Amino acid sequence: MTDNGAQRGPRITTFGPITRIAMTATLAGRPIHHVSAYLLGDTLIDSGAPRAAPSLLAWARTRTVRRIVHTHHHEDHTGGDALLVDQLGVAVEAPPRTVPILEAFYRLPLYRRLIWGQPRSVIASPLGGHVEIGGFRFQVIPTPGHSADHVALFQPDERWLFTGDLYIAPRVLYLRPVEDVREEMESLRRLIRLKPRILVCSHSGFIPDGTAALEARLRHWESLAEKVQELARQGLSARRIRRKLVGREGVMRLLSAGNFSKINLIRSLLECRRGGQG
Ligand SMILES: [Zn+2]
Repeated sequence: MTDNGAQRGPRITTFGPITRIAMTATLAGRPIHHVSAYLLGDTLIDSGAPRAAPSLLAWARTRTVRRIVHTHHHEDHTGGDALLVDQLGVAVEAPPRTVPILEAFYRLPLYRRLIWGQPRSVIASPLGGHVEIGGFRFQVIPTPGHSADHVALFQPDERWLFTGDLYIAPRVLYLRPVEDVREEMESLRRLIRLKPRILVCSHSGFIPDGTAALEARLRHWESLAEKVQELARQGLSARRIRRKLVGREGVMRLLSAGNFSKINLIRSLLECRRGGQG
């Protein structure tokens, strides 16, 4: 494929019956973003970015794919839908709040179109409280914060948890301004209570000892929130707090025209009450 915002072919790994399809977006030949879709039975969980859709389709033609189930609407999770609906006749199921977004997908800001591509609209059916995937019954758990429509999928016998974009990495420092840290921490607490064994993360893949991973992820933000609020009480500005606690902005802020930034995280933590409650 070409190198401008394009994708290499997917990298395939498995955990038990779950197949990970890892896709990498590149800009000027450099990898800038990783996202994974997963296959369980005949169902994909999420479908990667629009730019990866041709390589996802080529791979899907070698398997039996009949359905896509979504965790949330973001373009790096739903971008394969339109092509797979057109070419393979797959059905799309999504959280109730995701369905209307998919049916009339909003025009993305330029940097998102460049990196991931603009999704085409598709018709989707709303998920209920449970969903059957590959012979396993999953609970559909609302987990707002990263986006308002976000859900996680939990299989209580195997204790697998598809976390969509709720986990991402042990330390998440870049936030979009629309993300709600307080809600996101509440969602992390909800998932910790399920005591998952394995996290199936859209960015970090299969994560063993899922409960400990979620606890560490939550603790990082909780302790950061305490430090942020302490420095605010001392009269420091959000910008100075950012410099002191998490350092300079990185390339992601530049690439996203200021949309993904550390200052968004600091501002969001400032609005949290102590311990993220409230
Ligand atoms: Zn997302």
